[in-house]
Amino acid sequence: MFEVVIGLEVHAQLNTNSKLFCSCATSFGEAPNTNVCPTCLALPGALPVINKEAVHKAIQLGTAIDAKINKKSIFNRKNYFYPDLPTGYQISQFEVPVVGEGEVIIDFPDGSHKRIGVTRAHLENDAGKNTHEGDHSKVDLNRAGTPLLEIVSEPDMRSSEEAILYLKKLHSIVRYIDISNANMQEGSFRADVNVSIRPKGDTKLYTRCEIKNMNSFKFIEKAIAYEVQRQVEAWEDGVYDQEVVQETRLFDANTGETRSMRGKEDAADYRYFPDPDLLPLIITDEMIEKFSQIPELPDAKKARFVKEFGLKEYDAGVICATKEMAQYFEDMLAVGISGKAATTWLTVELQGRFGEGMNVTTSPVNAVKLGTLVKAIESGDISGKAGKEVLDYLMENDAEVDAVIEKLGLKQVSDDGAILEIIDTILANNQDKVEQYKSGKDKLFGFFVGQTMKASKGAANPQVINKLLKERLA
Ligand code: ADP
Ligand code: ZN
Ligand code: MG
Repeated sequence: MFEVVIGLEVHAQLNTNSKLFCSCATSFGEAPNTNVCPTCLALPGALPVINKEAVHKAIQLGTAIDAKINKKSIFNRKNYFYPDLPTGYQISQFEVPVVGEGEVIIDFPDGSHKRIGVTRAHLENDAGKNTHEGDHSKVDLNRAGTPLLEIVSEPDMRSSEEAILYLKKLHSIVRYIDISNANMQEGSFRADVNVSIRPKGDTKLYTRCEIKNMNSFKFIEKAIAYEVQRQVEAWEDGVYDQEVVQETRLFDANTGETRSMRGKEDAADYRYFPDPDLLPLIITDEMIEKFSQIPELPDAKKARFVKEFGLKEYDAGVICATKEMAQYFEDMLAVGISGKAATTWLTVELQGRFGEGMNVTTSPVNAVKLGTLVKAIESGDISGKAGKEVLDYLMENDAEVDAVIEKLGLKQVSDDGAILEIIDTILANNQDKVEQYKSGKDKLFGFFVGQTMKASKGAANPQVINKLLKERLA
């Protein structure tokens, strides 16, 4: 039996206004090679200056994952050639990163938790982008120099499930503290996935393969499954040493396979050395004091929702997965409704009506509107069933809840007098059934409810019907 060992390196692109070592903008989608300057083009004599906003964001991340912040860290040159890297080296942090050891707690569906160690997080700049068309290639340096925070985990994960839970939690944290938009399609949050196997019970680490630049949870899951199977088969076939070598692999989404890209370089190959153009990065107590003030994190928010609004742990987890969803929920509650109803109407009814790519921020029905709708149900103005019709209408039309209830004629009659009038007519017209009921045929109660409902054309509040019928038939 084998055990899977996974360690993840996550690159989060920081959402600073300017690049890491120059004042060029970091915006996406500009014309090629327009967000560039002598520094990020590596023209002779141009010098880098560290962007303090990026440093602040690193401190915030460190705080969020309960990590040690190193008061003195060093920028190194990591030397290699690539056409999208004008300097011929990446500026990164090697021996001493800005953020030291920390942790991320992952939550399993059954309510249990596991601690995943974070080894370090360091600042580095991104490279540009090459595109290949036919027999020629183009280089766009707009991205060259954008700030990345690389967050390196311990090899603490034992399944793809754990790896995905870790990535989702980290993704959520990064967005809660707003240090990155973490847009995965755009590659602003991407992971290198290191995978190895070992016989169960063994504690040493075996050879890992690194699957580079993954930016989809679904593909990461598939890549891990493929890689584990490949390594296990190699072991069982007695060719482990030949087949499983330390290397960089690529995942092919079309075939669902990983394939070798290049042999893995070791740190020594990069000839790391401290960048002589940059002083050590010094972080003062005042900076730590100031930037360790971070917004409420997902776990804390979750605990508060359970305590304050009586949510189930699982529901609270779903609602707190994104900051936007949690905010939507709190805005709904501000209308004055119960946590339980808000949960159902948000996670089941509203989300159930979302099409591909829709979410609470793009929802045609905002939190106050949905809250108002739930309030109409809780106060008995309309039935739950009618509420669904109103929501259907609101998904397609921009209108106010009250106006829609009016327009669709869904207002419930809860007024005792009006309902009693109907009940009395029905009882008078069905004297025989009333006798049967009174002599023990309990089932007839449903008949009277049905008749009343029908006579009111479905508008009578069923709770009120029940109450009044019980009184009349007592
Ligand atoms: P590099 O940049 O060369 O890939 P790092 O030290 O930055 O090296 O990252 C190594 C990553 O690989 C870490 O996330 C670590 O947890 C993981 N890792 C190391 N050894 C193993 C192994 N045997 N199996 C799985 N993951 C591993
Ligand atoms: Zn620049
Ligand atoms: Mg790596």
